[in-house]
Amino acid sequence: MGLTEEEVNLILDKLEEMYPSAGCELDYRTPFQLLIAVVLSAQTTDKKVNEVTELLFSDYPDLDRMLTLSEEEIQNIIKKIGLYRNKAKHIVNLCRMLKIQYEGQVPGTYDELIKLPGVGRKTANVILSNAFHVPAIAVDTHVFRVSNRIGLAGSNNVLDTEKQLMDVVPREKWTQTHHMLIWHGRRVCFARNPKCDDCKLKDLCRYSRKDNR
Ligand code: SF4
Repeated sequence: MGLTEEEVNLILDKLEEMYPSAGCELDYRTPFQLLIAVVLSAQTTDKKVNEVTELLFSDYPDLDRMLTLSEEEIQNIIKKIGLYRNKAKHIVNLCRMLKIQYEGQVPGTYDELIKLPGVGRKTANVILSNAFHVPAIAVDTHVFRVSNRIGLAGSNNVLDTEKQLMDVVPREKWTQTHHMLIWHGRRVCFARNPKCDDCKLKDLCRYSRKDNR
């Protein structure tokens, strides 16, 4: 059985109490930099991405400067992170596409973003919500795990999880909820050995109440 509206509100209130400043942990100054950082973040920690983008953005902060780099040069700058060859290829191709098709601007709609190389549903939602303030719930590994454990969602796939979260969470809280679930997943509700005994959600959480630990 799903959570009641009252339980959902209580969970969101407690998450807000725990993470009043939850937000994107990638460093960026423009939508373009956010796009590059999110493309780099696949299967890599935000901390590692920030180390790499600090170098990359110091000399190549915008599209025109980034376009001066070859794929190999980008590889050399980002090689500390996983999948760097693929990511370098995506960056070169997406920069070209932004220049040719979007007049050098990051597009602000889901349908346009999803066409960019290296940009999937999650990345498009992160860009929309953080750079364009369009409410969205990007479901990454943390959002997926934590929301399904708590009971805010009940699905074994990402797309249904996103839809179920959009159903139970008020639209104006979608973006904030995305961040709070990520923060909770990184600080308390770990993939292995979640800290249920210390978790303020343990009386409401489906996983904890079933004593799955
Ligand atoms: S009670 Fe445990 S499983 Fe539930 S949200 Fe907290 S840490 Fe995660």
